[in-house]
Amino acid sequence: MNSRPFTQLGQFVHYATQHFDLPLLAGGWTDSRPQPEIPGRAVGLSLVLGEVVGSPSLLQLEQETKLPQWQRWVGYPGPISHDTFGYVAERLDPEPLRRAVRWINRKLKRGKAFEAGKVKGLLAVNLDANEQFCSDHRCCQDCLSREITCQNADGQEVKKTQYYHKQVYAQLSGPELSVILDFEPMRQGEEECAAALRLLRRMRQKYGPRFLDVVVVDSWYATGPFLKTVAEGLGWPVVTVLKQERYEVYQEAQALSRGQKPAQVVERDGRQVEIWDVRALRFSDSYTTPVRVVRARERWQQRVQQGLEWVTEAKEQNWLWGVAGDLDSAEGAVIRDLGHGRWKIENHAFGQLTQHWHLTHCAHHHPVAMAALLWIKILAFTLFHAFAILHGKLFRLGRATLQEVRQQIYRSLLCGPPVPLFSG
Ligand SMILES: [Zn+2]
Repeated sequence: MNSRPFTQLGQFVHYATQHFDLPLLAGGWTDSRPQPEIPGRAVGLSLVLGEVVGSPSLLQLEQETKLPQWQRWVGYPGPISHDTFGYVAERLDPEPLRRAVRWINRKLKRGKAFEAGKVKGLLAVNLDANEQFCSDHRCCQDCLSREITCQNADGQEVKKTQYYHKQVYAQLSGPELSVILDFEPMRQGEEECAAALRLLRRMRQKYGPRFLDVVVVDSWYATGPFLKTVAEGLGWPVVTVLKQERYEVYQEAQALSRGQKPAQVVERDGRQVEIWDVRALRFSDSYTTPVRVVRARERWQQRVQQGLEWVTEAKEQNWLWGVAGDLDSAEGAVIRDLGHGRWKIENHAFGQLTQHWHLTHCAHHHPVAMAALLWIKILAFTLFHAFAILHGKLFRLGRATLQEVRQQIYRSLLCGPPVPLFSG
């Protein structure tokens, strides 16, 4: 019998099953327990649902699995302890999870879900880095370490070693739907650029060169070897923020555009944007292929409060972007839009994950578990956002925020009618 799912949870499960074959995805995750008492699928689905409803820890998740609805949903008639979640997470293979996320992203792309995020037909990936587990003690073999200076109780400066983990993320951003394509952990003693290159090389191999059109990075990555490897080795043009002092090319572009009329004047979000476009500049000794530099002067009026009064202030920002590789057909304003990430920062997958999905907090400190749980978080995030943004009526009609839809999913676990079980 085909029972129609009415609750938010029912609709979410239905969507994830119909469009992305969720039971198959969850059934394909393998953990290395020899004779599992609790099926891996029930543990995996609980972890996914825990992320969707915003469960902050494995202890809290253990509480949720006592709900009859939850047990029916994941297909296991009993609670699952936090120890079991930790134990299984340490034995999950992160690779099938990475593959599952890739499969979902490919499917979204085929369904044109990323079209709205393109800038003049160009699909851009942005790189971002994030830290987890900052502490004074080494907690696992993969903890990174650094020396920091801080003040002790007497106000004296002391040096100490800090331990942490850090990953580089590749995200696609749009006006609404944003996703993480892949991430790569940094290793002890390497620069962020090295992890970023490993990430991009794998993406080129696994997603293919045509999945995206351009790589956008902040000034941290603006090094000769990085630009050379990505623009020439991988064949993706790079747009990078340039910050003054570090680059000769910055001074040169400023000098060449000074006193010149802007090549273009456009309006963006109430700002008047003047654009200078300087071609064929030398970047550095380690990257000698000529680069293009786009300079933007953005001016706007802003209302600010001064004491009891509101006054209008003139604001100005200046930006400089370097372009390596072939983006010659894209005019300066397109480079500016790509460089700004264009979409509201709070809509970015990375911002959402940090603010609402506990990205900086990982539930279990163990090298394998961390990667597996991060992939599960990203998978749940992508499925939920695709559901709420592309499919769900409440969000699309502006009747609920994404966080409210998540709360409704949680509420339908507590009091909704039984959810139809997966068949088979
Ligand atoms: Zn660690």
